[in-house]
Amino acid sequence: APAETPQVVVDAHGLPYLDPKLPVRKRVADLVSRMSLEEKAGQMTQAERGALTAQGDIAAYDLGSLLSGGGSTPTPNTPEAWAKMIDGFQLRAQATRFQIPLIYGVDAVHGHNNLVRSTIMPHNIGIGATRDPQLAYETGSVTAAEVRATGIPWDFAPCLCVTRDERWGRSYEAFGEDPALVESMETVIQGLQGARDGRDLKDDDKVLATAKHFVGDGGTEYGSSTTGSYTIDQGVTKVTRQQLEAVHLAPYGTAVDRGIGSVMPSYSSLDILGDGQGPVKMHARADMINGVLKGRMDFDGFVISDWAAIDQIPGDYASDVRTSVNAGLDMIMVPHAYKDFRTTLIDEVKAGRVSEKRVTDAVSRILTQKFRLGLFEKPYADTSGASRIGSPAHRAVAREAAAASQVLLKNANGALPLKTSQKVYVAGSNADDIGNQTGGWTITWQGSSGKITDGTTILEGMRKAGGDVTYSKDASAPTGGYDVGVVVVGETPYAEGVGDVGNGNDLELTAADQAAVDKVCGAMKCAVLIVSGRPQLIGDRLADVDALVASWLPGTEGDGVADVLYGKRAFTGQLPVTWPKSEAQLPINVGDTSYDPQFPYGWGLTTLTKVPTGGASALRGLAVLARAADRTGSSETGRTAVTKARLLVQQKLASTITPATAKPFAEADHLLLTGRYGDAVEKLTEAYRNFSPSGV
Ligand code: BGC
Repeated sequence: APAETPQVVVDAHGLPYLDPKLPVRKRVADLVSRMSLEEKAGQMTQAERGALTAQGDIAAYDLGSLLSGGGSTPTPNTPEAWAKMIDGFQLRAQATRFQIPLIYGVDAVHGHNNLVRSTIMPHNIGIGATRDPQLAYETGSVTAAEVRATGIPWDFAPCLCVTRDERWGRSYEAFGEDPALVESMETVIQGLQGARDGRDLKDDDKVLATAKHFVGDGGTEYGSSTTGSYTIDQGVTKVTRQQLEAVHLAPYGTAVDRGIGSVMPSYSSLDILGDGQGPVKMHARADMINGVLKGRMDFDGFVISDWAAIDQIPGDYASDVRTSVNAGLDMIMVPHAYKDFRTTLIDEVKAGRVSEKRVTDAVSRILTQKFRLGLFEKPYADTSGASRIGSPAHRAVAREAAAASQVLLKNANGALPLKTSQKVYVAGSNADDIGNQTGGWTITWQGSSGKITDGTTILEGMRKAGGDVTYSKDASAPTGGYDVGVVVVGETPYAEGVGDVGNGNDLELTAADQAAVDKVCGAMKCAVLIVSGRPQLIGDRLADVDALVASWLPGTEGDGVADVLYGKRAFTGQLPVTWPKSEAQLPINVGDTSYDPQFPYGWGLTTLTKVPTGGASALRGLAVLARAADRTGSSETGRTAVTKARLLVQQKLASTITPATAKPFAEADHLLLTGRYGDAVEKLTEAYRNFSPSGV
């Protein structure tokens, strides 16, 4: 703790809850038994730190939590300033009767994105493209270490959304469109929290994680709206019960098994077809929160509302409070109405409309996590790990994640990898812009273009890789003398809502981007990189482009992109979502009956030099191996067999994707993720057979 903040006064009366040797369960029971209704209601209140009218309100209203939300500006820009700010708040909390520490929360959704000079990871859509659970785990570890070193013990991440329609402005927060892919990336929860039983949470490099947004946030229907202001964000998810279970709920079962500490409901409404209820706001759904999450799944953490989300429940404020708390919400992100919320909750309890038992349960869940985090023993920031923020070791993880997330969609005429002996002409809006390449939720909520933090742009990475590079943002002089052009186009940053509104909120490239592609690709052999939070339509231009790469939002380490461009590391990424031909095809997902994408889910060429060769007979051999793995349960053998088969088929199909070849290929990826190795190889064999009409 900084010099000006006193150490915690260890309770002189020796109350049991202050004894770290007692089991957490006993400490919680002791503390809640002493608390008044007012103190309990305060614990359930989370205020935005910028909304505090006076710091003394922390103690006056017994606040349980503060946050720096997306819209909170300005945030501190050094680790020391973060720690000092939070210590100041904790000091106020120490003035309460029981000295219950605050739990401070932020959205660190791809690294400690609230802090300048931190290590920024690719957004989740890129992590999904890596298909690498170990890497997802490591990105979580780095994020947790950087966040906790600034005194913040709680992260509103990961988003477990399964994105079904990329017109949604939060598509890049999803690991992908397939629940099996999302589940496989949930290793990130262990990266953030450590062991499943919560025993690592007190460490100085772990944070409490939040699975969000429960449930169906990625499934909202385009054009649906319950608030009037959006066409898809915060809209209505219409699903059969079976789809709800298989697509949207499945990742939460996994998160609970992994010991997730908190869950945030979704702004959206859920409409379960055939149940007669129509659309109901998730924050009001007792059947889902009490019933499924806390009941059937046995979730023992706490439920935190989304930002002012209870205000969207129909009815007056008292009804919003009562409905949400009775539905199973434990803490409300009010975020401004902290006085009103607390008073209203107290009144509802006194009137018997919310039971004190429900309130005690909510507070017990919150306190359990505070004890696990060690906050009672160490409420102040432990900044001893601050030197790790943005360190070379952390940036190396982000660089590998950026490299592994690159998906090579097309590669003709040997366009990629580049050679350092080649003269390369680089152009396009996103070649040299750290802000665009990190996307939304970076430094500010919406993110912004330009040099907003430290890192390496793609252009800088290419130069560092030894490339002979000439750059012109608008492709002003792409004439003569170049061996190959690299055009980096895509989106500018945005968060939530419907996406890149300035660019027309569609998946079209801007006119300037299209012109840059046309100019460069008309003049020389070219590779086009799309830096974006979701697929962008390339349409007929695909024929004029030699190589096409989905770069997603790779984060601060442009070096990683340069690594694959220059062949220091092979392209291995696979599409986490389907890449459509046109906007009219949306929503388009693997498994649809008429599936006719530009590139199927799971697609991704490789520049690995050791690609398995052979044709039908090689595939037959791999099928035997995969079937054996099914029988013995050897996932390693199974994965190897399927990966080899995939690479083999991919290379054969390289430039001739048709709907007929694409569909089984996409399905194979799902089968691999769900551990059905033999079936996966069979699907790939089907893709191969369709491709070569002579048959296998
Ligand atoms: C978002 C959440 C986020 C919260 C706090 C909301 O607008 O939907 O994902 O955790 O703000 O910043």
